[in-house]
Amino acid sequence: MYGGIEAGGTKIMCAAGTGPSDLHAQISFPTTTPTETIERIIAFFQQQRALPLVAIGIGSFGPIALHPHASNYGSITSTPKPGWANVDIVGPIGRALGVPVGFDTDTNAAALAEGRWGAAQDLTTFLYLTVGTGIGGGGVSNNQLIHGLLHPEMGHIRLPHDLQADPFPGVCPYHGDCLEGLASGPALLARWGAPGETLPSDHPAWALQAHYLALACVNFICTLSPERIILGGGVMNQSQLFPLIQREVQVLLGGYIQASVLLQQIDTYIVPPRLGKQAGMLGALVLAEQAASDPA
Ligand code: ZN
Repeated sequence: MYGGIEAGGTKIMCAAGTGPSDLHAQISFPTTTPTETIERIIAFFQQQRALPLVAIGIGSFGPIALHPHASNYGSITSTPKPGWANVDIVGPIGRALGVPVGFDTDTNAAALAEGRWGAAQDLTTFLYLTVGTGIGGGGVSNNQLIHGLLHPEMGHIRLPHDLQADPFPGVCPYHGDCLEGLASGPALLARWGAPGETLPSDHPAWALQAHYLALACVNFICTLSPERIILGGGVMNQSQLFPLIQREVQVLLGGYIQASVLLQQIDTYIVPPRLGKQAGMLGALVLAEQAASDPA
């Protein structure tokens, strides 16, 4: 039995189990202060002591320190979320529960879950991009999550920004008009003066949104060569975005990449997730499984 924690910027989801068809206990609560939130997580798993938990996995909002040799390993680092910068999340949970802890970003966790049980089950190299309060990407290459210097920050790539067509300066506190600054939920709200979910499906917001997401997909196709791109997160509940993005990706690629799935079946290439809101939490169970098999 594993414990999975999806630590989102607004909400925490915890579960004990081994997968989507084997969940024994679940809880969800708002992310408040670090002390209160971490205590609540620990209390939930202590109540599950009857289930022998062998490891915990945490998929966290970031940026996070996940290099095992880093002095701040297990911490959330330069987040703009008040009170949460440089907070150690792995240490207190691991010490209180006495089990190995797997740790990665929430989007990397969601990618793992979509690979195990969801929209990328048959693939070894794919991308999961979440478009919501922020934008983040989890990349799996040859069955391994992409790590390196730190972890990818796919939401903060720079895109061509036609200031005449779209004078909006963007909302990213670090970069202004990076992808997240132009196309996250808060960007939609700031640009159009209304939350995305209240805009009609034929509103010009969606063509512009699809344009930025298509540019992003093309950059990721050219750099990572994913076999599929999964687009999730609250903004992608607007299903009209998918055909707009798919068509524009084909136009932007201009037939250069000779893969039949891009040329003829792009509706099977850029797809919604299958695990919905549970993806991050289920991916945290996979992180726990990995931590149990390799506690080092
Ligand atoms: Zn940015």
